[in-house]
Amino acid sequence: MKNYNNMSMEELQNLDLKYIWHPCSQMKDYEELPPIVIKEGHGVYLKDVNDKEYIDVVSSWWCNLIGHTNDTVVDKIKSQLDNLEHVIFANFTHPPIIELCDRLTEYLPKGLNKFNFSDNGSAAVECALKMAFQYHHQIGDTNRKGFMCLSEGYHGETLGALSVGSLDLYSEIYKPMLMDAHHINAPDCYRCPFNKDRENCNIECGEFAKESFKKHGKTTAALIIEPILQGASGMKIYPAKYLNLLRDLCDEYGVLLIADEIATGFGRTGKFFAVNHANISPDIMTISKGLTGGFMPMAATITTEKIYDAFYGDYNSHVAFMHSHTYSGNPLGSSAALGVLDFLEKNKTLERANEFAPILNKMVLEAFEGEEHIGEIRNIGLINALEIVEDKETKKPFDSKLRLGYQIYKKALDYGLLLRPLGDVIYFNPPLIFTEEEARKSIKIMKKAYKEVLG
Ligand SMILES: *Cc1c(COP(=O)(O)O)cnc(C)c1O
Repeated sequence: MKNYNNMSMEELQNLDLKYIWHPCSQMKDYEELPPIVIKEGHGVYLKDVNDKEYIDVVSSWWCNLIGHTNDTVVDKIKSQLDNLEHVIFANFTHPPIIELCDRLTEYLPKGLNKFNFSDNGSAAVECALKMAFQYHHQIGDTNRKGFMCLSEGYHGETLGALSVGSLDLYSEIYKPMLMDAHHINAPDCYRCPFNKDRENCNIECGEFAKESFKKHGKTTAALIIEPILQGASGMKIYPAKYLNLLRDLCDEYGVLLIADEIATGFGRTGKFFAVNHANISPDIMTISKGLTGGFMPMAATITTEKIYDAFYGDYNSHVAFMHSHTYSGNPLGSSAALGVLDFLEKNKTLERANEFAPILNKMVLEAFEGEEHIGEIRNIGLINALEIVEDKETKKPFDSKLRLGYQIYKKALDYGLLLRPLGDVIYFNPPLIFTEEEARKSIKIMKKAYKEVLG
């Protein structure tokens, strides 16, 4: 029997490439940069099979909320593992998921208290879209078949989610397979077409939303958005006032508001949920990533009593939501999520992260402000994003063929920092337990990599 844990990095890489098609990757790039084989992770650190360490400042695609192998979560999952790994979730239930809903309700915006579980973010988005569509149908508003969304939005990779996403990089080729959604021009605070800035504007760009609602407001089932922070498009941040406007427009036109909090939930923007910045409640919310702290695949689509009630009736009225996933409500995922809440509550993690946020931002500013090619440094919560441009005056981006973000990423990896960028936007989205010492190390490497590529 082969022992895969004793193999060299190279042997493992060769075997990996023999079999595995990695996500969101041009596999030819792996000829030059083969997959790094990680054997363990603790806190913000990952360690490869050669004992080299990497600081994971992107929280392994934003899900690692409170550090790798966090003890509280590990213990919680272990204790659940001896009792029950999974049970069919139709007609059956279990204590961890009941506790989870009961406790999450305390954190959720007012009115959200009906939970539909799935196992990844895209699936939670599909669930939200179907739920919104069917809701209108069942209250007799059968004209509402379409969806609105924001340009620069991202909601996942399945066909419904891609239809309400706006990033051509992920969707262009599939357009013939997608539904037609109305894409509202999102705020673009760095390149504001009205020459305002994020802190000083009257959300002039809200006109685009108003126009869309005028045209499509009566035939739209729901508007789906990433509240405050559009993650995948490059950590774009827009003012809370814009979110209030969208809530008002949805109310005026009878459109449901779906807040996709998959990336923003669980304190990433400084509030427990990003919609809290605007003090609004959506009609439907999707959560995933931070929910289990990155330990187990789990997601939820959460809605109101009012929407739930439109699906409630005698079986033969056929109003039920006939939507399911095999792993709905998984007990191990539930216990991981409970471990996350335990940890956050016990350690006041979010309060601490909020105390550290301005310090971290200052450190990033000190290191990068004034650099020739740093167009904008934006921050919210512990998220700090640097947009690299060719010309700061005109804000002209570099030719994307140069793949500068990717060049910086490769350099940073050499020096022990995991910094997977979004195009030419390099960013930190570290776990909420990130410390000043870790930040200092990370910024130093980031700067060095930046200088070697652009200096
Ligand atoms: C990551 C993400 C998704 C998709 O979640 P997956 O688990 O990757 O399918 C959806 N919406 C937002 C805002 C995300 O950041």
